[in-house]
Amino acid sequence: MATLPISCGWRTRSARTAINLEPCPECGAAVGGSDACQKLFDDLGLRAFQDLRYAAMRRLAVDCYACQHDRYILSGRSLAAHLTGLAVAIEHGGDHQVNDRVQSWLSRTRDLEKPVVPSVRGKITIADVTGAAAEEYAGAVRRWADSVWDAWREHHDLAREWIAAAGLR
Ligand SMILES: [Zn+2]
Repeated sequence: MATLPISCGWRTRSARTAINLEPCPECGAAVGGSDACQKLFDDLGLRAFQDLRYAAMRRLAVDCYACQHDRYILSGRSLAAHLTGLAVAIEHGGDHQVNDRVQSWLSRTRDLEKPVVPSVRGKITIADVTGAAAEEYAGAVRRWADSVWDAWREHHDLAREWIAAAGLR
């Protein structure tokens, strides 16, 4: 008499779980909710300590993730830090000096008005970069940045104004 393999039920269940993972309420990644999304981000941070290819993209990955998650951009200043990071990566070739100028300016700036954040913040999420092979990671993060930057398009001019303000003082 034929018997079902023992692993059959487990496989079915795990496949179903993978399809039905709850999305992160903020970025929409189907990773199992907000905490699971944060864990992926934290794990990515740990990889940066072990592998230069991850370390090199850390700043941009943080800016991408922050601009998709409210808790990182609660104030105008924190939004400015991360949104200008995307702008510098995309429009200034990731020039560290521009980032440093912005950081210095933010440290001297008490209040910045925060605009209304867009409700949709990019099709690409952390779920698309955590699975990338290490040698493809940089490209994956750049695509993530393009997607998030595009989603924030109504505030591109504001990000450019902040960068200009940082340079004028
Ligand atoms: Zn998320």
